[in-house]
Amino acid sequence: METESIVARLKSCGLFPTKGLVGGKWIDAYDGNTIEVTNPANGEVIASVPFMGERETQDAISSAYDALSHWSKLTANDRSSRLRKWYNLVMKHKEELAQLITLEQGKPLKEATAEVVYGASYIEFFAEEAKRVNGDILPSPSPNRRLFVLKQPVGVVGAITPWNFPFAMITRKVGPALACGCTVVIKPSELTPLSALAVAELALQSGIPPGVLNVVMGDAPNIGNALLESPQVRKLTFTGSTAVGKKLMAAAAQTVKKVSLELGGNAPCIIFDDADLEVALKGSMATKFLYTGQACICTNRLLVQEGIYEKFINAFTNAVQNLKVGNGFTEGVAQGPLINEAAVQKVESLVQDAVSKGAKVVVGGKRHDLGFTFYEPTIISDVKNDMLIARQEIFGPVAPVIKFKTEEEAIQIANDTDSGLAAYLFTNSIQCSWRVTEALEYGIVGVNDGMFSSEVAPFGGFKQSGLGREGSKYGLDEYLEVNQVCLYGKHGLIYVWRVNML
Ligand code: NAD
Repeated sequence: METESIVARLKSCGLFPTKGLVGGKWIDAYDGNTIEVTNPANGEVIASVPFMGERETQDAISSAYDALSHWSKLTANDRSSRLRKWYNLVMKHKEELAQLITLEQGKPLKEATAEVVYGASYIEFFAEEAKRVNGDILPSPSPNRRLFVLKQPVGVVGAITPWNFPFAMITRKVGPALACGCTVVIKPSELTPLSALAVAELALQSGIPPGVLNVVMGDAPNIGNALLESPQVRKLTFTGSTAVGKKLMAAAAQTVKKVSLELGGNAPCIIFDDADLEVALKGSMATKFLYTGQACICTNRLLVQEGIYEKFINAFTNAVQNLKVGNGFTEGVAQGPLINEAAVQKVESLVQDAVSKGAKVVVGGKRHDLGFTFYEPTIISDVKNDMLIARQEIFGPVAPVIKFKTEEEAIQIANDTDSGLAAYLFTNSIQCSWRVTEALEYGIVGVNDGMFSSEVAPFGGFKQSGLGREGSKYGLDEYLEVNQVCLYGKHGLIYVWRVNML
């Protein structure tokens, strides 16, 4: 499909804004600077967007702060119905949004469509949850007092998001923030800002007032500093690498902001001797190769027990050899390009390092003949857990395989990392699955299942994979302050209050 025809279709629906959004107005960078957005599958320039910095961010924060007094005072039903309108508009434009994601991020259209549905589910879920933000009445310490807990919006939220899910990482944050009555300044990745701008345009169309949602992009460290230094920003929610997350968390200490972090993973996928081979194969393929391995919950290490090792490797190799690589718009393509040249070089260096230390390339192991940033689906065997490829997040289509003997050894290897986001295990034993699940130091565990994430479940990591949770009722709490109120009065006053409550 031609870029021009996709862009023309997006423009005809108003879904191709290429400016920042501040206070409901589409604006350029104040100094006129721009940055190009390119398609990783062919290097084509798709658009130029403003390269913004501190001043635009400060104005976006002021707009969000001004909008707070109105948005937070709307009734829960009113906020809910606007979120639902937003959800309906997103679903109406599912196809166009999916095309935009494939264009700027490279993932196959089928995965991009799944991302839109997944991302939209967070708007729909939190449209309903908006009506369930309620406090508590506590036991009174004395007859003349009544104690309540109120839940109030945190305030202005700064949201910094990555390129791998350019749509869903935004709705996963903005959905609950808006449901709680917060307003937001989003800074999407400069590599994939167009999906963020399109979803913000749909928010405006759905009656979410100007200033409630603002989008700035460009000079990431300066935008980050402006967000973190501002006392008006009460919360930072970040999804991205652990290295950047640590820096932001340290900077957030200046104003003691609330912080949620969704950071990198190093997911083990453990296959026990008694696993159903087909189920384990399907799960391993999904957890490793979906999104070209560029998801934080993708398998980073396959741990295979010695009894099933050969059978599994043979079947896995067969399946990996059949993966079709190519442009995400091509029918039947299962694996797109990596996001950029730096990502390919990182994968190459991790594979070279592993091979130099005794690991073996079973299949793949190099750039794909298609050129650009395509990399062959790869399996590396004889990997040891102290090799760089097992310590760092690969973020590419490479499956390092580690052989193990016992359940204890598998648990020890799986937990021997600073990360703790997702883990998977395949076994037919209920006892084993229970024991191992409880022993794994991970926020998300899939048993005989791979790549599960849903708006109804809390998403987040242990250890250095993050702080806080996204999705579900736990995700709502991230955008709420808990406010204790003590009401003192003489009998008469409390009597009136009681009657009113009945
Ligand atoms: P990244 O950390 O390089 O960038 C993430 C965002 O932070 C981008 O918008 C970037 O511009 C911004 N940024 C970078 N430096 C900054 C700074 N100094 N100040 C302010 N902002 C700054 O990550 P990435 O390469 O975009 O995304 C991939 C990473 O995201 C992987 O590690 C992946 O595991 C992680 N991720 C985690 C989850 C999760 O839910 N845990 C989900 C998706 C991605």
